[in-house]
Amino acid sequence: MSHYELRCRECGRSWGNQPRSICDDCFSPLEVAYDYDSIRSQLGDGRSARERISQRPPNMWRYSELLPLPQGFEPQLPVGFTPLFQAPRLAQQLSGTAAAAKNLYIKNDAVCLPTLSFKDRVVAVALSQAKAFGFDTVSCSSTGNLANAVAAHAAREGLKAWIFIPSDLEPAKILGTNVFGAKVVRIAGNYDQVNRLCSQIADEHHWGFVNVNLRPYYSEGSKTVGFEIAEQLGWRLPDNVVCPMAGGSLIVKIKKAFDELIKLGLVEGKEVKFFGAQATGCSPISTAVKTGSSEIEPQKPSTIARSLAIGNPADGHYAIKVIKGSGGWSEDVSDPEIIQSIKLLAETEGVFTETAGGVTVGCAGKLYRQDRIDPEETTVLGITGNGLKTTDVLAGVYRTEIPIAPKLTEFERYLSESLSPSDIPGVIAESVGA
Ligand SMILES: *Cc1c(COP(=O)(O)O)cnc(C)c1O
Ligand SMILES: [Zn+2]
Repeated sequence: MSHYELRCRECGRSWGNQPRSICDDCFSPLEVAYDYDSIRSQLGDGRSARERISQRPPNMWRYSELLPLPQGFEPQLPVGFTPLFQAPRLAQQLSGTAAAAKNLYIKNDAVCLPTLSFKDRVVAVALSQAKAFGFDTVSCSSTGNLANAVAAHAAREGLKAWIFIPSDLEPAKILGTNVFGAKVVRIAGNYDQVNRLCSQIADEHHWGFVNVNLRPYYSEGSKTVGFEIAEQLGWRLPDNVVCPMAGGSLIVKIKKAFDELIKLGLVEGKEVKFFGAQATGCSPISTAVKTGSSEIEPQKPSTIARSLAIGNPADGHYAIKVIKGSGGWSEDVSDPEIIQSIKLLAETEGVFTETAGGVTVGCAGKLYRQDRIDPEETTVLGITGNGLKTTDVLAGVYRTEIPIAPKLTEFERYLSESLSPSDIPGVIAESVGA
């Protein structure tokens, strides 16, 4: 008997363990439910559980008891346990006060291994189950990062991968899928159309779609972001979390992670406020929060933040619930603000994030300015992906310098010309506006 099973989020019916994401009785999503007594007996309580976990290798598998892993599962890759660090210079810029400096943290999944986004976490869990269910082919619909992660993990596990993407994805994300030998199917449509197609294919082909029939297992991987934040803060919960939202799963699962840590006595109970971040060009969840609606009105995405461009988010309803129930809020930022925020994070903290990280940083600034985030409180920003995958959005932002001859006199001339403030190398051509 395993210590977890699928259960309907609405009617509570249990479905055992199988590749399935929807309850046939009420058509609501399924979720992994755990026997917490059994976890407690394996892991110990409070202090002893903390000690046991702390001694394990620094990757997400240190929380194995709290993940839906098949019996005898042997991890193939050391995924996760990314850095959490203070961001004092960014804090000053975003909040306009010195007070925030020691209270703002970055959780940096831009350096999550192996494919430089938090999607490695969800895929690692989904593929453990794909193998247990006997799939030899894994698949997904993706806005880019998931494609990279499925392709890489499938290569490592010796599985075949079929990846379905909207045709307008960033070139680096397509190449970063091809390189692992995955079959990439470009669809002339947006993510929501790709996803609908994948649901139909999943009915016809015996494939493990990580975010369709394996979705309940997949999404549990996101909890490890929450476990790590708590452990890295010294087994303590933050006051606020700012999290980018696409399908809305990550923010819901960070909340679930915190609740589980409280339940098992690993951290003290505390009310954490959850703040969602979206691009204005695809903001169905933040729009619902701002208008006081509990349901999603689907949108047609139009934004450079393609990793977040899901117009009809599968977990939107639950994301709204988490945000509102916690006393948090949701914001969104324009494409030019996303680019400014990518630059700001890079220039203040040396972290190069992709567009989704620009969304998080831009929204965090708005939330400080709106006094929704108190600079005296501990706040964690979820930076979920790497800037080297979306360099195309910075095209034209930096001018290409004309090369100079390899001579000291040439350099001295160049230096004196450069010292006029408008022309210092590396200063950005203001082509994108504020
Ligand atoms: C997928 C993704 C998200 C959002 O995840 P959801 O769980 O779908 O809300 C955030 N950031 C990046 C970089 C992503 O690729
Ligand atoms: Zn049901």
